[in-house]
Amino acid sequence: MALVNIHFLNLQNNYLFADIAKKVNAFKVMHPKADVISLGIGDVTQPLCPAVVEAMHKAVDEMATADGFRGYGPEQGYDFLREAILNNDFAPRGVRLSLNEVFVNDGAKSDTGNFQELLHWDNFIGVTDPIYPVYIDSNVMIGRCGTYRDGRWTNVRYMPTTAENGFVPEPPKGRPVDVIYLCFPNNPTGTVITRQEMRKWVNYALKNDALILFDAAYQAYIQDPDIPHSIYEIRGARKCAVEFRSFSKTAGFTGVRCGYTIVPKDVSVATFEGERISLNQLWLRRQCTKFNGTSYISQRAAEAIYSPEGKKQVQQTIDYYMQNAARMLRVLRSLGFEVYGGENAPYIWMRTPEGTTSWKFFEQLLYGANVVCTPGVGFGPSGEGYVRFTAFGSHERTEEALQRISHWKKQ
Ligand SMILES: *Cc1c(COP(=O)(O)O)cnc(C)c1O
Repeated sequence: MALVNIHFLNLQNNYLFADIAKKVNAFKVMHPKADVISLGIGDVTQPLCPAVVEAMHKAVDEMATADGFRGYGPEQGYDFLREAILNNDFAPRGVRLSLNEVFVNDGAKSDTGNFQELLHWDNFIGVTDPIYPVYIDSNVMIGRCGTYRDGRWTNVRYMPTTAENGFVPEPPKGRPVDVIYLCFPNNPTGTVITRQEMRKWVNYALKNDALILFDAAYQAYIQDPDIPHSIYEIRGARKCAVEFRSFSKTAGFTGVRCGYTIVPKDVSVATFEGERISLNQLWLRRQCTKFNGTSYISQRAAEAIYSPEGKKQVQQTIDYYMQNAARMLRVLRSLGFEVYGGENAPYIWMRTPEGTTSWKFFEQLLYGANVVCTPGVGFGPSGEGYVRFTAFGSHERTEEALQRISHWKKQ
């Protein structure tokens, strides 16, 4: 008899964005003429930049020749891309890593979800709250989170990031956590932490022999030169942190699929007997077994964002989105809303007025202004009373959405 992995049955039934889609569809059925603008799901809208398109065409042409054809590539990714990553994303920030500490992948979701496989099932995990749902759900699937009660998992430490603590989560007191998920710039709050605050987390991890899984998917949106882009800018982090990066938000690769993970050779975890096991070796072993690499075409595309033209073009698109963010902050603030984020990230995190719940406000906005936001509570219990807006729309649609919100608010 084939038995199910019962942990999957513990997952909360619906994925947040499926719930939203259902409610939006219900609205559209009732109001077929309404023109709904989505500032909800975190997907980019602007086309790939010319340097990337050119590199992809070139790669396809190579594949069409006997000499240029490539079959399975190295599981860790091609050297040309790993070198470009080290020379552009890390060396200029004073971070020295070696080629075999870089693992190219098909996007950060896979690796942020899969990396927990390397860890014993009863590690105690901690997440800042609210948070990208993948971190918790992937741990639920392996039975690490306990049971779901009143909007939270019994065996997860939630570290609130709210207006009350200035969106600066504190390392936990009491029972130490073994594995900490951090994401900065943060999805969903759009907030960042300073070097000093990041240092607190690294010191906590070193002191408690904990592992930090650091998601830097939005680092390209950082505007403030004092905010660290990589956790390895903090001394000691290469002993306790794994970092996930993605070209999805950096260069519009949500449909192309390419990202990478840094697993430094100095990061290790313990056996019960106290032996230290290198996560780099273990992850390599895991990848070689379960992953056959990212397409050559995607990797050439990713390499192209590091060329001088590629850099310029990618920056233009990021600036384009950040203009939306600035506009949204200004308008929403002028309407009297309490808004956060949006300065170093493409997300605006807004407190709902007068204690309205996230879902209630989502519906009010949908029915009142035909604009879709994301209910904050979908990202964790501390997200209740907030909603998220994304800056990934076009200027025109974002402007239109803001006008409608203004009109609705002033009624
Ligand atoms: C979008 C996003 C990613 C990137 O996912 P990909 O699989 O690379 O497209 C990773 N982490 C967070 C927090 C995100 O919002």
